[in-house]
Amino acid sequence: MMAQYLAIKRAHPDCLLFYRMGDFYELFFDDAVKASAALDITLTKRGKHLGEDISMCGVPVRAYEAYLAKLVRSGFKVAIGEQMEDPAEAKKRGSKSVVARDVVRVITAGTLTEDTLLDARAHNYLAAVAEAQGGLGLAWVDVSTGDFWMQPVSAKTLSAALARLSPGELLVGDRLLGSETLFEVWADWKVVLSPLPSARFDSENARRRLEALYGVGALDGFGSFSRPELAAGGALVDYIELTQKGKLPRLSPPKRLAEGAVMEIDAATRRNLELAETLTGERKGSLLATIDRTVSGAGARLLAAQLAAPLTLPAEIDRRLDMVAFLAEHDAIRETLRETVKRCPDMERALSRLSLGRGGPRDLANIRDALAEIPDLRNLLSQPALDAPPGLADCALALGEHSVLADRLKRALAPDLPLNARDGNFIAEGYHPALDETKALRSETKGVLARLQLRYGEETGVASLKISHNNIIGYHIEVPSKQADKMGDAFIHRQTMATSARYTTPELIELAGRITGAVERALAMELELFEDLVREVTARAAEIAQAAAALALLDVSSALAHLAVEKRWSRPVIDDSNAFDIKGGRHPVVEAALDAAHSGAFVANDCDLSEAQRLWLVTGPNMAGKSTFLRQNALIAVLAQMGSFVPADSARLGVVDRLFSRVGAADDLARGRSTFMVEMVETAAILNQSGPRALVILDEIGRGTATFDGLSIAWAVVEHLHEVNRCRALFATHYHELTRLSSKLASLSCHMMKVKEWQGDVVFLHEVGSGAADRSYGIHVARLAGLPPAVVGRAEEVLAILEKSDQASGMAKLADDLPLFAAMAPRAKPASVAKPSAVEEALKEVNPDDLSARQALDLIYELKRKL
Ligand code: ADP
Repeated sequence: MMAQYLAIKRAHPDCLLFYRMGDFYELFFDDAVKASAALDITLTKRGKHLGEDISMCGVPVRAYEAYLAKLVRSGFKVAIGEQMEDPAEAKKRGSKSVVARDVVRVITAGTLTEDTLLDARAHNYLAAVAEAQGGLGLAWVDVSTGDFWMQPVSAKTLSAALARLSPGELLVGDRLLGSETLFEVWADWKVVLSPLPSARFDSENARRRLEALYGVGALDGFGSFSRPELAAGGALVDYIELTQKGKLPRLSPPKRLAEGAVMEIDAATRRNLELAETLTGERKGSLLATIDRTVSGAGARLLAAQLAAPLTLPAEIDRRLDMVAFLAEHDAIRETLRETVKRCPDMERALSRLSLGRGGPRDLANIRDALAEIPDLRNLLSQPALDAPPGLADCALALGEHSVLADRLKRALAPDLPLNARDGNFIAEGYHPALDETKALRSETKGVLARLQLRYGEETGVASLKISHNNIIGYHIEVPSKQADKMGDAFIHRQTMATSARYTTPELIELAGRITGAVERALAMELELFEDLVREVTARAAEIAQAAAALALLDVSSALAHLAVEKRWSRPVIDDSNAFDIKGGRHPVVEAALDAAHSGAFVANDCDLSEAQRLWLVTGPNMAGKSTFLRQNALIAVLAQMGSFVPADSARLGVVDRLFSRVGAADDLARGRSTFMVEMVETAAILNQSGPRALVILDEIGRGTATFDGLSIAWAVVEHLHEVNRCRALFATHYHELTRLSSKLASLSCHMMKVKEWQGDVVFLHEVGSGAADRSYGIHVARLAGLPPAVVGRAEEVLAILEKSDQASGMAKLADDLPLFAAMAPRAKPASVAKPSAVEEALKEVNPDDLSARQALDLIYELKRKL
């Protein structure tokens, strides 16, 4: 057995091997050590290999999926080594013969299909990057739904494309992995990387493989893919085949994402804007969670994908907006749509499992139940008088006509279904007469069995005599041990237990044979019927997938419409201009949080970045709402271009091709970078990459370094944005000096967050006004935050000096003249700064040498009183 184990393990060196032994999957050697640590299960020993103890641990087959999920999440790949024959078969070959085993599947993070291992509302992408003819290609597929895409990328755009997909697993060839220019990209995705030999990324093999997969002579019909794209796509298919041991799920024909087709948003910007998750990694509190009103898993996945990839073609965006607008207007249709879609199970994932031979009766039922809703939906959307927009009409078409299959599934499947086909009893009565007959025979024979039990009971006079069944000895007659003497010669003794005795009779043996035969025949028939149904479903896989996609799109459109109505959002106007004119804009997440906490209304603000004022300098104290304002404008652009209504009274936007945001700062400890370094790396990316159609939001650049360094950097960044990048930008800063740039830079316009002073406190109005803030109120905020009064008082003194002189000489003065804390320092302070305190005055008078110990103590009491 060990020899067999080692041979299988040798063929799968990068996987943990789950080695099937009866009711357990066992792990040995290093695998056992790793798995027991990751799963927190006991590590034991069993036998010796080359004189060393063999470590071992195991998981029950019954509950293995939970363990699998944990291992895959911890970054392991798992090879499932099954028993390929009945142990009885092996015994026949000889008593020492080992049961044949083989790996039936390799489970990796990117190739999951089980609902228990997947998040129903999120895509799980397997992605590959390849290089050919000096170019790069990216391909990705969701194995659980069959979605397949390719895209040309470059060393510069790869990072943003991966950030958009956030793949569960990323395949890269050895050679490319060693590339200097892409080093940083791989570092970002280290946890999900699966390195493969470069030979697997051969573009010519890939082309042939893809052509064979789709049964076409050329792939041109699907799009004009470049060699690197094909190489990546081919590597994906190859990898899936390898891990699924030759089986392929249904894959849609590859679609091509052309260069520039979606708004480019890099990883830092996605993080900063908290698009799909918050800075702390939670979904709750993200833009996605705030806007998600979808009612199906497929809809939720599509919404996430659309939010991750806002479009750049106004016509395409309008097509989506037309659907949302229509559904926002037609309440009744929208509500019916949502109710109907909600009843539709996840066909995409069911279909994928069925096509991989891993589906069960419940997957067929999912398809049955979703298809059953389609006729009503189609009728709803294609009423002639409705005048639905083209997007909706296309959905109605794509839903398709499935009545034959739907009817067949409805007739075939029983009301209660087991998870696995092997458990039987899932075919409905009346669907297949021969099966019904066999089942009738089975229950008839069971009736005979019941009568037999009664008769034996009477014949022997043992009232508690029972005919039972177990897996070891099959059907048998059981009586309490005390009554065993009543059993005559007709009963053949089988077993004596602690409290009972077991018997059989030739009659029972014959009957048991008939029952087992009928059960086996019925199960075999059901399995055959199951295969027939699966074949019928997979033969129509393309149509079913199309219907599933239409359902998802209907869900997303009606969910966005529902949101627009609920929140009174408005339809944005998108064109190819450079406009950016938002009236009454709001931050959807902050507004929702304020609503939930009943803590006042959100203050709406305008933002106009038209040519004459395309760069806004926003000043104002901390906590006044600068970041919120900056982000809300970026979020409105994202929402608009994904095809959603927006939280504003009106919005007219020229398409944004790239979005950059640098908000806040966090140390990137994993990569050993300081806050300031992260800030500068991100700022460099913005200045190097944004063109005239980009939208840039920058918050508090230069805060991470010394004042003058910071100010100079911020100054130069503003000039560069204005003169070189010439993009639309919002720049929030606490350096008021920057507002002087407005006299020099024609398109720079100064704005500030309004505050009101009231009884010595500041009140934030959260309102954006024009002009520059004259004070930063930082000390007020410090007081609000509970800084010790001594520190606040001291800060006010320092500020007074700085404000009196220009900054440089003020600093010098501070260093020369102003001691740290007056009470601690012996030198006198200039009277112009602040009056000496009573304690200081008193201390000045004292000559310590004249004091006795007692006098010194009295003096301390006196000083304390003066405080
Ligand atoms: P800053 O960036 O100026 O330090 P923030 O944008 O972080 O300030 O805002 C601080 C807090 O003020 C937010 O958490 C929010 O609760 C509140 N706030 C910001 N903008 C608004 C607004 N327009 N209306 C109402 N409250 C707001």
